[in-house]
Amino acid sequence: MSFESGVERLVRPELLAMEGYAAVEPMEVLSQYAGIPVEEVVKLDGNENPYGPSPRVGPALASYPYYHIYPDPTHRQLRRALEGYVGLDASHLVVGSGSDELIDLIMRLFLRPGDGVINCPPTFPIYPFKANVCGGRLLEVPRDTSHGLDFAGVKRACQEGAKLIFLASPNNPTGNVVPEAQVRELLETGIVVVVDEAYYEFSGITVAPLVPHFHNLIVLRSFSKWAGLAGLRVGYGVFPPKLAELIMKIKLPYNVNIAAQVAALESLADLEYLQGTIKALVAERSRLFAKLGELGFLKPYPSQANFILCDVTGKEAKSLHRGLRERGIFIRYYDTPLLRNCLRVSVGKPEHTDALIAALKEVGAENDRA
Ligand SMILES: *Cc1c(COP(=O)(O)O)cnc(C)c1O
Repeated sequence: MSFESGVERLVRPELLAMEGYAAVEPMEVLSQYAGIPVEEVVKLDGNENPYGPSPRVGPALASYPYYHIYPDPTHRQLRRALEGYVGLDASHLVVGSGSDELIDLIMRLFLRPGDGVINCPPTFPIYPFKANVCGGRLLEVPRDTSHGLDFAGVKRACQEGAKLIFLASPNNPTGNVVPEAQVRELLETGIVVVVDEAYYEFSGITVAPLVPHFHNLIVLRSFSKWAGLAGLRVGYGVFPPKLAELIMKIKLPYNVNIAAQVAALESLADLEYLQGTIKALVAERSRLFAKLGELGFLKPYPSQANFILCDVTGKEAKSLHRGLRERGIFIRYYDTPLLRNCLRVSVGKPEHTDALIAALKEVGAENDRA
């Protein structure tokens, strides 16, 4: 059927033209690709926590008695448990099906077609993706070569009618944080500043305590990375109470499934265990950073998150990436104008670092001969 006569002619044309989101593949697909059992896959491409969730999560999910009942639409228990963790009362807190859902809801709350959103690439591609779905006007202000914000550029974009700015801190994929002084200066402009702290637990740096002092600051957090719950989809946002109310008003009623709520509660009740795995990952980040640098063809950037971005010198990132895939090791590869010939490696367990480094030595040598 031709384009004009098909149902596509009823679809918003800008969405037909838009590119979809390139998400990471699940373990089963990776294992099939490499021709090895799932247990042997070394997955360092999604910034997931290789230690998994707290050991309390499995038994709590197995014994939960009310799967046949709709979950609490306002997540009272979880928000109450988060009060202590975040240090602010529940009127500031909204829970989402991953922090991705909160990014989506924030865009829907503020953007009408043509409204401006500032994006500072290279960064998390969900921001431009969701802005486009909402018909927002992207104001792209690329970061400088050391991945800091182009602050003059951001301020200019504020004057071009931006309503929102999204700042990941630590930034994905570069690993650096936004200095609090810059966040404060942006808040002065009056636009809504969304600081995405999906990796907060690996940096220990947060602007959440500022939220009660500003009407335009939102901080997003996630259970996906530090708490090992990426598959269950649960995140939260710290909002000025008025904005929290509005997000609550426009969200779908049962947006966070009960398994995710139970798992997040158990995680908050087992911080000692989870802080142990965070400590292990932060220690492994230093070891991985040193080993990547010693290879001679990678230039790792310092990171405050659970991943490390590397420039590749004298070799092709693409063929290193392919060589690793064939050996069952999966990482991210970039070759875009702002990330030329780069790799991003999630921090894993020590044995993952060892396997990765050994494979990189082999693949690097092959790359020389090719
Ligand atoms: C992983 C990631 C998220 C997504 O978190 P979910 O809670 O799994 O939706 C949000 N922001 C950044 C910068 C991320 O890297």
